[in-house]
Amino acid sequence: MLGPAMKSRRETNTRFRLVLTLGVAVVLPALTLIFVNFQHVKSIQRDKKVEALIHRDFQYLLASSAKKISGKAYEMTEQAKDAFPIDTDSDDEKRRKLQLILDKSPWFEHAVIFEAKKEAIVQQQRDRKNETELAALTKNYSGWLGLEGPFLVEQLCKKPKPIAWFSGESDRPDGSTIYTTMAIFTFPQVSKERTVLGGVSFDPKYLKEKFFPELLEEFTSPNVTDDPKQSEGMTFYELTSQGLKEHKEQRLAMLVFPADALRSEPERPLVTSAAWNGGKPEVSLKLDNPFRGLALGIKFQGTTAQAIGQKWVWQSFMILGVLSVLMIGGLVLTYRSVNKQVALARLKSDFVSNVSHELRTPLALIRLYAETLELGRISTQEKKNEYYSIIRKESERLSALINNILDFSRIEAGRKEYDFRETDIAELVRNTLDSYRYQIEQQGFALEEEIDPGIPAVKVDREAIARALVNLVNNALKYSDSEKFLGVRLYRDQSVLKLEVSDRGIGIERNEQSRIFEKFYRTCDPLVHNTKGSGLGLSLVRHITQAHGGDVEVESTPGRGSKFTVWLPLANQI
Ligand code: ADP
Repeated sequence: MLGPAMKSRRETNTRFRLVLTLGVAVVLPALTLIFVNFQHVKSIQRDKKVEALIHRDFQYLLASSAKKISGKAYEMTEQAKDAFPIDTDSDDEKRRKLQLILDKSPWFEHAVIFEAKKEAIVQQQRDRKNETELAALTKNYSGWLGLEGPFLVEQLCKKPKPIAWFSGESDRPDGSTIYTTMAIFTFPQVSKERTVLGGVSFDPKYLKEKFFPELLEEFTSPNVTDDPKQSEGMTFYELTSQGLKEHKEQRLAMLVFPADALRSEPERPLVTSAAWNGGKPEVSLKLDNPFRGLALGIKFQGTTAQAIGQKWVWQSFMILGVLSVLMIGGLVLTYRSVNKQVALARLKSDFVSNVSHELRTPLALIRLYAETLELGRISTQEKKNEYYSIIRKESERLSALINNILDFSRIEAGRKEYDFRETDIAELVRNTLDSYRYQIEQQGFALEEEIDPGIPAVKVDREAIARALVNLVNNALKYSDSEKFLGVRLYRDQSVLKLEVSDRGIGIERNEQSRIFEKFYRTCDPLVHNTKGSGLGLSLVRHITQAHGGDVEVESTPGRGSKFTVWLPLANQI
């Protein structure tokens, strides 16, 4: 048998190894991971990476939107340009054709055609015809292009797209200012020397009410990212982290506003998308020709990139926090369950050494007395009888122990079967005690037996109930030192039958009272250590009583004694 010091050293070793394994294999990597993630999230917060990425994406969106805006204006202008009347000499024919262009393109306010040394021909949109304005326009164009025409033609010839843009805010007769843009272009098929120029002026009202609103709506509609070109720009952060994906679901809002308002507060937007709900754009981009002087702005509807960034960081911290808590919880659980296993393993090894010890003693005694008898040296019959009885008792102890172990292994394997039969339980208790009476008295115990008369017959497994009683009686004998008393009581308490076994022995500490029914469990009392035992008895008693629909309870005061009460239900067994 191993000494207690050695055993505890071995246990400490096991525990230490367990903690080391847990530490190196689980805690260290997990903590490192959590730590690295915390740092990572913290650094993102510091660098405002999320915000920066969103802004980058905004820049991309703005640039591609600006390209589309200018592309569309060019397309409109070029369409008109292609229909311009340059091959006819008749002014009336020119006017007619210009009018045709205007009829087809409601987005232009007026169109002009100019040839050197002639008066400019201006045609206005039908519903906006105004003779005074027409006269003023004709005069203005004739003067301006008469002067600058040749220079303009020269400049435009050098450009891949021969269109010059003149844009800005102009005052209206009603005192308000309005933004407009106009295109002046040359015709490659006409010789440079002739100085022929055409021009169309965009209708400011059309720009404000149709052209920009329709485009902004298109740019901010949710399916905008379906465009492969645009989602190209999104893929970058989509891959970066789960959290960044979220802002794609946010509705975007855009606006067009005068570029000089970039610095001035408050802004006065020219056009906003429907989703715009005030505030400043997150990112702006100044537009170039044909809409020089205007800027395009973008933001999220109802939130800011900063808020999204913060939310993401906060969520990441939350997830990390929950993960850490889960990990710590898991560790505690693992540690506890392993500890339990270690304790069970210790109990099992104690059990093996206790049982072998318990088997050896009666065997040695039986052998000793049998050998003595065999030698024929014992003369008196009385002595002989004493030896026989010792041999019988020791064999009984052996079978009791072996029965306990067999029962236990059957229970553990789930193979224990009970044979319930109608039984006079009072008689069963009396008979069981009778076979121990001699032993009890010989050990100097006072036996107080109190069996109530008139106890009804119950259906029990006789052998099992007798074994439970024997175990309780044996314990009372084993764990009593100074005051040797054994009390056995059988009585009916309403619908239950109670069997009490009490002693005035060493008692059991309160905190150990529930544990003594566990398999292999033995208390820490030194007397228990010096007494043989397997730690199986009480766990068997509990199993047997529970199989009968009852249970076993203990009341005990250390140093004063214990009382074990087995109760069995009567009602359903009668
Ligand atoms: P064993 O007696 O073989 O050790 P048991 O399962 O019968 O195993 O008992 C478990 C433990 O409960 C004992 O080791 C002892 O510490 C404690 N115990 C049982 N009965 C008594 C009693 N009557 N008085 C004091 N302690 C007891």
